[in-house]
Amino acid sequence: MPITFDEGPEAGRRIGFGQNRLEAASEERDETTLATALRDGRARFHLFADGKVLVRKDEDPTASFSAQDYRAFGGSAEDLVLLGHDGSIPVLATTIAMEGDAPPEPYRLYDMRSLLYSESVSDSEASAAARASSLLHWHAMNRHCGRCGTRSESRLGGYRRDCGKCGSTIFPRTDPVVIMLATDGERCLLGRGPHFPPGWYSTLAGFVEPGETIEAAVRRETREESGIEIAAVRYYASQPWPFPHSLMIGAYGEAVSSEIRFDARELEDCRWFTRSEIVSMIEDNHPEGLRCPPGKAIAHALISNWVAG
Ligand SMILES: [Zn+2]
Repeated sequence: MPITFDEGPEAGRRIGFGQNRLEAASEERDETTLATALRDGRARFHLFADGKVLVRKDEDPTASFSAQDYRAFGGSAEDLVLLGHDGSIPVLATTIAMEGDAPPEPYRLYDMRSLLYSESVSDSEASAAARASSLLHWHAMNRHCGRCGTRSESRLGGYRRDCGKCGSTIFPRTDPVVIMLATDGERCLLGRGPHFPPGWYSTLAGFVEPGETIEAAVRRETREESGIEIAAVRYYASQPWPFPHSLMIGAYGEAVSSEIRFDARELEDCRWFTRSEIVSMIEDNHPEGLRCPPGKAIAHALISNWVAG
């Protein structure tokens, strides 16, 4: 029997931070790669201050800057990472020191969530910025060797750190998170976290634990947060989630129980929603003012795809 795949565009390509055009080519890198990229006059830079990404907010908004801008903003040479190449053009990222609270007009600093939801820059730039944000955070948190405590050094344009004393090498990490929409066919299960914007309900989510499959994580997290039991699990799509370096793995879960007993330590509320309620939430005319996460979030894709189906 041949394997059959769903037709149509890959779901993840419609989700924010999922449009990365950069080729990292990390296995082809050597110790000259970063210097070669820096010598290329076409190189582009993503610049970060305090974990926020710099955006030039004018008639042609961008988070991608020239080498001249990189120098003018005092970009750190030590923190430089080569994100990859867009075609043949090197794309790098580094930190900048920002004096005062805000950059001069027309520049702004966006935290990554605001960059995603505001759709201020193109999907490909936002996706490159997400890679940059995760990599820069990983470097910032791994300046010393985890085995012997010696200061480690960035190698291969930022795709590895080496300890010169004990020889340990570490690579950038990605943390898997399951995010799932449980459904009993006619209804779907959404929860409300205490820090959500007013009226927001979203899909449940949680980190995959060591030694756990994605399917088991979907069942465990749903049970822990809502008390609902899940049978079949089906993968839908994924989303790079730079908070700080997760991969959201979106799935549907077949609910085989209906009584909700939500975990009040994690959720303020958890409810079943009918399709018509979800439509009104997406269209922002729910009678109680309830809403779903906006378009670029994988939660939105999971919910709207279920409603459409
Ligand atoms: Zn070491």
